[in-house]
Amino acid sequence: MNQSANSPEIIFVGAGPGDPELITVKGLKALQSADVVVYAGSLVSTAHLAELKPGAQTYDSAPLTLDEVLAIMIPAVRAGQSVVRLHTGDPAIYGAIQEQIEVLEQEGIPYRVIPGVTAAFAAAASLRQELTLPEVSQTVILSRREGRTPVPENEKLEKLAAIGGTLCLYLSIGMMAEVVSELLAGGVYTGQTPVAVVSKASWADEQMVEGTLADIAEKVTMAGISRQALIIVGEVLSARQNGVPVKSKLYDAGFTHGYREKK
Ligand code: SAH
Repeated sequence: MNQSANSPEIIFVGAGPGDPELITVKGLKALQSADVVVYAGSLVSTAHLAELKPGAQTYDSAPLTLDEVLAIMIPAVRAGQSVVRLHTGDPAIYGAIQEQIEVLEQEGIPYRVIPGVTAAFAAAASLRQELTLPEVSQTVILSRREGRTPVPENEKLEKLAAIGGTLCLYLSIGMMAEVVSELLAGGVYTGQTPVAVVSKASWADEQMVEGTLADIAEKVTMAGISRQALIIVGEVLSARQNGVPVKSKLYDAGFTHGYREKK
């Protein structure tokens, strides 16, 4: 049995969107002390693997099934090793962690989750854009268009689009024409609604394309973006060109709140 100084458990770690410095301090420490690391090789930067201690075992989960991933992690923990399951972005968003957690619960294996920076927030940072502006939008929806994974009827894009607000779409860039027509069908967004697409946010080869619902599909094609991109839709995006229509109450001199009297 390989006894480790760490308590044997599985830690789901959000690696962040790509830039290896965008992992949390806690996530990095877990990585540095792990005996076994199973990482999503298709999306997680291999630069994270340089942080591992000598002798740590690594497995790319890209070609593996759920059972194969569990067959690596569970015996390792039972042998006293600490395991990190490294997911891209935040593990709670399209991370498929619940199906792993279910088995760990059944098997009585200790585990915890360390969050990460999800792609939507990395994309907003790259754009240098706030996603919530007073009287423009106070709502951010994280969603996707239906692909091979079905989407519940009430969450079809056309229905989400009827809410308006700021919409961040994952896993949808390959269906841009359908995305645009379904968003327009919602009846709130128009051909003039601004859209930004950020591909590989925070990576060295990041690309950003901005336009409107009327022209974004063509711009994305022209830019050659076909995968690993986040689509942000909504009027908040026009603030960088047109200014902020209403300033926040939080920093309004005439507004009293728990930490400041009005001036
Ligand atoms: N758990 C991840 C999402 C995994 S699903 C997270 O929280 O970010 C994979 C999708 O995430 C991709 O299809 C793409 O839409 C988005 N994505 C992941 N990393 C990205 C990045 N660096 N830039 C833009 N989109 C990204």
